[in-house]
Amino acid sequence: MSGVRTRPHGAGEAGAGGWEPRMGQMTKMARTSNLEFGGPLGALVLVALLPCSVLYLLLACRTEAASVLNNPLPQLDLSQLWDPAALILVLAWFALQSVLYLLPLGKVTQGMPLRDGTRLSYRINGLHALVITALLTAVGVVCGLPLAHVHDCCVQLACVCILTSFALSVLLYARSLCVSEVALAPGGNSGNPIYDFFIGHELNPRIGNFDLKYFCELRPGLIGWEAVLTTMDIVNDGFGFMLAFGDLTWVPFTYSLQAHFLVSHPQELSPTGAVAITLLNALGYYIFRSANSQKNTFRRNPGDPTVAGLETIPTATGRQLLVSGWWGLVRHPNYLGDLIMALAWSLPCGLDHALPYFYVVYFTALLIHREARDEHLCRRKYGSAWSTYCGRVPYRIFPYLY
Ligand code: NDP
Repeated sequence: MSGVRTRPHGAGEAGAGGWEPRMGQMTKMARTSNLEFGGPLGALVLVALLPCSVLYLLLACRTEAASVLNNPLPQLDLSQLWDPAALILVLAWFALQSVLYLLPLGKVTQGMPLRDGTRLSYRINGLHALVITALLTAVGVVCGLPLAHVHDCCVQLACVCILTSFALSVLLYARSLCVSEVALAPGGNSGNPIYDFFIGHELNPRIGNFDLKYFCELRPGLIGWEAVLTTMDIVNDGFGFMLAFGDLTWVPFTYSLQAHFLVSHPQELSPTGAVAITLLNALGYYIFRSANSQKNTFRRNPGDPTVAGLETIPTATGRQLLVSGWWGLVRHPNYLGDLIMALAWSLPCGLDHALPYFYVVYFTALLIHREARDEHLCRRKYGSAWSTYCGRVPYRIFPYLY
């Protein structure tokens, strides 16, 4: 992978997060004034609350009632939270994924233009990593690898991941204090250490060619999400506690809650139910994948034959907004697909317990909040063109509903 920053074609497009750099006219990075998540206090509360929520959900899943509001609270024996074997397992997993990430397989592509007009290179090899990981796991199981141990010690694994997320976030924040201003994230430059630690102060921290945010987004917790280079996480948000904890702890342990639940609370599923749920998941995946790919292709090459015929709205930045295809149906068709998949992942748990639906409920709240964040960013970036787009596409996520 090349870590060299290259100059983009068509320089002068909007830069990361809505800044408007023109070649040779770099503006000074302004302080972030619009603080999200309730500012520093909200950030502090989330830093304390999120790790506790992960442990609570995992412990609640193992109780007989498996209730979201367990009363009494699930018993927590502090001595059982730490297991050195869990630390070794997590480190081995990170090491394996790091090696696979660095393998010279897959194409190298360029990210979106940064504030100084340069672009970073990224190797796209998540699918290779997924296939090799699956093969290694299959060989391991055939050779007697006790895979069920991962479920048995998931609370200890979560504790290790929580500590790793904190350690990484502290290192990232310390490092961000030493980088040049151009490397900072537009949204994480408030000057308040708590807020910037939470949101992420540096946009794309790299060690040599190793992109820490891109790696954490796409490997240890969730492999294979590849049209990611035009998303808010990569383009706008810095790499701090929010993404480090999300990628390394929240996603792997709460998004898999349904599977933890089913181990201790197996459910009957009729063949018709199984087919219906599979079809629902396929529909969600199709919408999610094609909407993300359409926008990704359009942002990278508006002349690509798959998107060249779509109707667009011009904006003052020189960029255009899609107003037909998926992005003419609702303003976030990719969120719609993701939410349909979330529902399909919870339905196999039956309808008697609310706990396995935590993911759907939380994810709906997250994406509604995220849509509002993006709406705010886009309105600032595109002004009246965004209002025109909203007039043409009135629904945000759910057609005719919201
Ligand atoms: P998007 O990929 O939706 O990116 C939003 C950006 O797209 C906007 O800022 C704008 O940026 C561009 N855009 C918006 N409307 C248009 C349009 N009409 N035409 C062209 N470009 C447009 O944002 P996210 O990063 O939030 O989501 C990416 C995916 O990640 C989604 O599928 C989402 O569901 C998923 N996700 C999953 C999470 C999880 O926890 N599992 C968490 C968050 C997201 P610009 O104009 O600058 O290109």
